[in-house]
Amino acid sequence: MTDHDHHHSLLELRQVSRHFGSFRALDDVALTVRAGARHAIIGPNGAGKSTLFGLISGTLPVTGGSVFVDGKDVTRLPVHRRVGLGVAATFQHSSLFLRESVLENVLLAVLRRAGGGLGGLRRVGARPKELAQAHALLERVGLPTRHEATAAELSHGERRQLEVAVALATGPRLLLLDEPAAGMSPAETARLTELIAALPGEVTVLFVEHDLDMVFELADTVSVMHLGRHLMTGSPDEVRASSEVQTAYLGTVEVSS
Ligand code: ADP
Ligand code: MG
Repeated sequence: MTDHDHHHSLLELRQVSRHFGSFRALDDVALTVRAGARHAIIGPNGAGKSTLFGLISGTLPVTGGSVFVDGKDVTRLPVHRRVGLGVAATFQHSSLFLRESVLENVLLAVLRRAGGGLGGLRRVGARPKELAQAHALLERVGLPTRHEATAAELSHGERRQLEVAVALATGPRLLLLDEPAAGMSPAETARLTELIAALPGEVTVLFVEHDLDMVFELADTVSVMHLGRHLMTGSPDEVRASSEVQTAYLGTVEVSS
């Protein structure tokens, strides 16, 4: 199954498509994400960015093409098998357990990875290793003092930080972040940007973001999508300089240079 020709890329999309009836939300998109990249995807609303993430994480089946993770064809694998291969996603719409504490949200994810399942939460007292891991993850995302709060009590920005901790708990090699800064204050966005920048190099980050300052601060590679198509992939400078991109997208948005 392993395709050694593509071992240098952690993620490879080969002409993936997603049609809804006759509507082509994604049409023949080819994209490669290098291991260790900080890779941003930009494009106007409706470009197909979230749909693309669905095809990568496995929440949405492709209607054409193939998805490879580390050279392995995962196109037909369900979400949990992809998580097992190191693909973790935070979603545009939060999937936290709002009535559970911050610590419990992270512990559940840690225990799920350890094979504990949901019932594992009751054995938390007997699992000091996972408890320590959960506290370490909260430290990493900047929430070390918020472990006793319920997820519902967190600010919008703190919830996003918690979502990243939950995603990191699965031990991802590829972290998918769909508009992580959406609805955040400038201060929260700055904190999140720092957090992502500080992630270890073993975690490849693919993120969708409308905040172009954040994109150009974090990304080493930028892909531009428009109307279900991949327009271009390049360095931040190449993307900023592209007249095609400016016409399709950047022309409608103010970009600081
Ligand atoms: P983006 O994240 O870039 O804003 P999306 O991937 O959410 O774009 O959506 C791309 C296009 O696909 C949009 O026009 C959207 O309305 C359409 N779309 C997304 N999901 C569905 C669905 N389940 N059924 C029909 N159309 C959909
Ligand atoms: Mg979207």
